[in-house]
Order: sequence, then structure tokens, then C-alpha cells
Amino acid sequence: MKKKLIIANWKLNGNKSCIFNFLNLLNTYHDQKKDKLCKIVIAFPVIYLYLAQQFFLKKNIFLGAQNVDFNLQGAFTGEISVNMLKDMGVSYVILGHSERRRYHKESDNIIAKKFKIIKEANLIPILCIGENKEEKESGKTQEVCIRQLQAIISMLGPHIFNNTIIAYEPIWAIGSGDTAQPHLIQKIHRCIKSYLKKYRMIDPEKILVQYGGSVDENNVSVLLNERDIDGVLVGGASLNYKKFIKIIDIVNQL
Ligand code: PEP
Repeated sequence: MKKKLIIANWKLNGNKSCIFNFLNLLNTYHDQKKDKLCKIVIAFPVIYLYLAQQFFLKKNIFLGAQNVDFNLQGAFTGEISVNMLKDMGVSYVILGHSERRRYHKESDNIIAKKFKIIKEANLIPILCIGENKEEKESGKTQEVCIRQLQAIISMLGPHIFNNTIIAYEPIWAIGSGDTAQPHLIQKIHRCIKSYLKKYRMIDPEKILVQYGGSVDENNVSVLLNERDIDGVLVGGASLNYKKFIKIIDIVNQL
């Protein structure tokens, strides 16, 4: 069985002192558990990554970024490149999150360009896909997920999905406290894996499919009991150290 992965997405939250405090506590926790700890990726706001870099060097906790630009350098005010992220010790980059698709008008085309630059830099993309409420209610969940995957494949070819992470995040479940039902998530994850398996250039063993959307310490265990849920992407509950540690403890025991 693949080792379960927990990804924490802090979004636009936190400050220097609370992140420093969180890191101190997590570091102590790490030193108690050491090799027994499941794999963890933490995506703080990019400006605080330097704090985390100092803590987790050579440890089983990895740094993620919440976004990246598809240009490498030049006159792109306010942007951050893959090389800058690597400089800060980042190994994973979230992209295609519904909040960026919605508030920053990121199209499938922009997401595919970001996917390419992330892979070329040998970073691991965490591609978020998922349907909105209307699409769910009209039975279009699978169609939407496949369309979002297909957009990447048509531009970059199927092989690009090797060594990547896909996060199935129903938009209506994000931050709502309303988690999708585990057996329905299982169905979608199976569908995503079967779809990718069709392409002979993709090795299903090299892809993780995470679930995200109101995951917390109370539901993580039932979610991860499903065969094709390889891990979770946690937003709100990752901001609270006690809740986050409970989630990690539960995953460690699986
Ligand atoms: C997210 O935005 O990626 C997410 C999963 O958030 P939450 O856990 O708060 O629903």
C-alpha cells in the first residue's frame, strides 16, 4: 500500500509568530515520531516559507507552495518562479485550485502552462480538480473531472502525469463543513485512476489521488478507509495545531 499523504493548505492565513509557533510544535512532534510519521506537505503563504525551510531540512515534512508563475524570470511584477520556490526548499506546488480558477480567472490553458513549468523544474504538481454544486446536482462530476485532466493531457501529453498528485476537491465541499460521502469520493477517485490508466504512458503507481473539502479530525479516518483515497488535502483544519496533529495521529495509525 502507498504511504498516505497529508497536504496542508494555509491559503491567505497566518503571521510570522503563529507560523513560528506552529513550526516549533510540529518539529517537536516530528522528533518524537521520526520514521513512524506519515508523509506531510505544508503550504504556508509563500512569504513564510523561509521560516519553515530552516525547520524541516532533511526531515519527513515537505514544503509546498500555493501557486507559481509559468514564466521563469523577467518583467512579471508580483510573481514567483519555480526556481525561487526551489531556492526556498519547496518540493510541491498546488495548482488549479478552485479559488485560483475563480478569483484569478485561471483557465485550463494557464493551469497546463503552470503544470509544465513545475514538472520541468522537477517539482511535484498537486493538481486540484472538481465540480461545483450545480454540476454535482446535474450528475456531471465525472465529466468535469475528466475534462480538467484532459485539458492537461491535450497540451502536454499523458506522460506528464507520472509522479504527480491529483487532488479531487468538490468546490461545494471546500470550507463548507459539508464533506462528500466517502463511497462517492471513492467512485470518483476510481474513475480518475481508470481514466489515466487508459494511457499506457502513465504508471498508476506513480500518481496519488487525494481528497480535499472540509476534511478534519472527525472524518479523516473514514475517508482514508476507502481504497482509492491516497491521502487528504486539508485547508481550515490545518490552521489549528491541535486539530492538525489529531489528523496526523489518525493517519499514522492507519
Ligand atoms: C482547500 O481549499 O483546498 C480545502 C480543502 O479547504 P477546507 O479543508 O477548508 O475545505
